[in-house]
Amino acid sequence: MAETVNREAIDTAVQLLRHARRILVFTGAGISTESGIPDFRGPNGVWRTRDPARYTLQRYVADPAVRRERWLDRLQSPMDRVEPNAGHRAVARLQASGRAPIVVTQNIDGLHQRAGSRDVIELHGTSLEVTCLDCARRLPVGVVLERFREGDEDPHCELCGGLLKTATISFGQNLVAADLERAMAAAADCDVCLAVGSTLSVWPAAGVPVRAVHGGGTLIIVNDGATELDGMADAIVLGRAGAILPRLVDSVISRAEVEPAGNV
Ligand code: NAD
Ligand code: ZN
Repeated sequence: MAETVNREAIDTAVQLLRHARRILVFTGAGISTESGIPDFRGPNGVWRTRDPARYTLQRYVADPAVRRERWLDRLQSPMDRVEPNAGHRAVARLQASGRAPIVVTQNIDGLHQRAGSRDVIELHGTSLEVTCLDCARRLPVGVVLERFREGDEDPHCELCGGLLKTATISFGQNLVAADLERAMAAAADCDVCLAVGSTLSVWPAAGVPVRAVHGGGTLIIVNDGATELDGMADAIVLGRAGAILPRLVDSVISRAEVEPAGNV
């Protein structure tokens, strides 16, 4: 029964994607679990064992012990050792076909770019860089992790003395307004929003697929569990992104892009 429902959902999704002029891909932590990065709210999510209250910007600024904890987390994170998976690569192929000009992600792992996606809006920043909370200077994360390893457990900016933090958006921290505005504009302008691997429960990011629907677009969800926006979706494909996305993308781009264009 479930497989029949999924086959129908896949057919609907393929039809919607084939007829779309402009697809907006919106991704969350679930697209990267198959690369080995745990999500936050899935069955093996980080919040099952950790207290989100220790992850606010306010706690980070106030408490050197919290900062040390975050640098240790970053040092031990799989982020620098993982590779993009079939899901990221399928998104890059869809983008290369010209149908999905912009990818909006909540992820901080840089895997879309490493898979070949170009215009990626990282709504929650990136863990591959560090920023100074005072002068906004940016540094590669490796430089600061090296200082931490050598014994500087509370690294500060060498230019202004400000606090250093990975260039990610923590709870209690505003998103970069220009990024959110661009993502919202792309949502308003799309015919189909393809939301992958997200509970669609983190705001304001979840406002992006909502904006797409309010702007007249259809919503396709690919996720291995329920999301907050299932009620708005035109197709819900249940399962793993690394298996489903290549199947969807191959069905959508094979005709137009594989057939030689024009008078060959
Ligand atoms: P989330 O943890 O709230 O939800 C992830 C969803 O993906 C869950 O519903 C889970 O069941 C599903 N999922 C897990 N593996 C999947 C797979 N292989 N295929 C399909 N679905 C799968 O994630 P979110 O909605 O992105 O929100 C979490 C926040 O945490 C985001 O803001 C993000 O910035 C951050 N985060 C990022 C990373 C990363 O960069 N890789 C990892 C963890 C958390
Ligand atoms: Zn500084």
